[in-house]
Amino acid sequence: MTAAESYSELRRRLDAGETTCAQIVADSFDAIQRGSGLNAFLAQLPAEATQRAAEVDARIQAGTAGRLAGMTVALKDNIALKDAQLTCGSKILTGFTSLYSATVVERLQAEDAIIIGKTNMDEFAMGSSNETSFFGPVHHPLDSARVPGGSSGGSGVAVAAGMTCCALGSETGGSVRQPAAFLGVVGVKPTYGRVSRYGLVAFASSLDQISPFARTVHDAALITEVIAGHDPNDTTSSSEPVGSYTNGLDEADVRGMKIGLPREYFIDGMDEAVVARMKELRERLEDAGAEIVEISLPHTNYTIPCYYVIATAEASSNLARFDGARYGYRSPNAETLEEMYELSRTEGFGTEVKRRIMLGTFVLSSGFYDAYYRKAQQVRRLLHRDMVEAFKQVDLILAPTTPTPAFRLGEKTSDPIAMYLSDIFTAAANLTGIPAISFPIGKDANGLPIGAQFMAPHFQEGRMFQGAAWVEQALG
Ligand code: GLN
Repeated sequence: MTAAESYSELRRRLDAGETTCAQIVADSFDAIQRGSGLNAFLAQLPAEATQRAAEVDARIQAGTAGRLAGMTVALKDNIALKDAQLTCGSKILTGFTSLYSATVVERLQAEDAIIIGKTNMDEFAMGSSNETSFFGPVHHPLDSARVPGGSSGGSGVAVAAGMTCCALGSETGGSVRQPAAFLGVVGVKPTYGRVSRYGLVAFASSLDQISPFARTVHDAALITEVIAGHDPNDTTSSSEPVGSYTNGLDEADVRGMKIGLPREYFIDGMDEAVVARMKELRERLEDAGAEIVEISLPHTNYTIPCYYVIATAEASSNLARFDGARYGYRSPNAETLEEMYELSRTEGFGTEVKRRIMLGTFVLSSGFYDAYYRKAQQVRRLLHRDMVEAFKQVDLILAPTTPTPAFRLGEKTSDPIAMYLSDIFTAAANLTGIPAISFPIGKDANGLPIGAQFMAPHFQEGRMFQGAAWVEQALG
């Protein structure tokens, strides 16, 4: 497998007998080995993957192989795979083994995808740079002094560096689109409820969605199509039928499409290369017959404060279950029951997770609940209304994914607010539940990738893939 090869191409070669799943899996582990300095993987599964490859090769021979036969997939280490570790990038889950697989994993395996390992991530998916992992940072493949983005940095790097064909990450506020933009790959955040969360360790349940990375829009559409759909094990999963996201992508057209550019997403201080690539894209879209409409999402300024109140509130409640009694790490230094709880959490969680638990507990506490948590819920409603109003005027919203290309390791670690602001363009889709896709639109002067995103109305993933596929072909 070459770094640039897509699943569509790989599958053609598999079906033509030009390669085998065994070969693809071997190549994948070679690439992981060569890129071990990037620290993208927390666990590799060569024995399981090799055995699966042999089974899938037999099914290809027999003509009974599934839609993802031979697709290697890496899983962010907050997505459950039976009998594998599930650390969430945290010391507190060291030693824990998952008892079951996430619904998405079962769906991938049912179509003959091959799971190759678990990837590094910001601790409990809290971060934008993959620097909060207990297991050390992940490095950008093009410049090891830079971050790959986060929190799904390991999954993003695994795809960008050709270690795996596709990968799953998770989004709470942009954790797949932001690294996808930094790494020059495609990242999809599906509509809330489109993909089952069963087997995803919860960070902020009303925002979390399992979200794929791929090297092409077609591959991203295919994997999304496979993992989407109702799941009785997740009561928030939607029974809305799943369309065909891959149909017609080769002939994708934007003629007559109304594409909104939100004026609040073109802010001062944005990197000049981001501005330039966005301008070029706008012109290409206009030349191709799309109608560009300047729109307003008036409450955009409140996105980040709103996100950080709601996400931390939900996290403080979700993370209460990690107490030393039920899963993973238990402090060896405790002498009483109370110390067992206190020391296990004190020693098991990192600084960013503790900051979020404290902030979340604070905004939910009586006396502050109305001022912060209730207010944030009201703001969330206004953000939702902004999107509903915008989609009365346009088919898709186009915006940069991030204000800058990948930043340097350590650049923002001492300033949490600066770090939080790297989600400024992504978090609105999570707060409002709409789908969004980030795709590469070029590079800056240093060769660092730049990404843009399309946001679509709820359950309009199909439209969003069409737009992104057109851009991919146009920028070729
Ligand atoms: N960077 C954001 C945060 O730190 C988003 C994380 C995510 O999407 N999981 O919370």
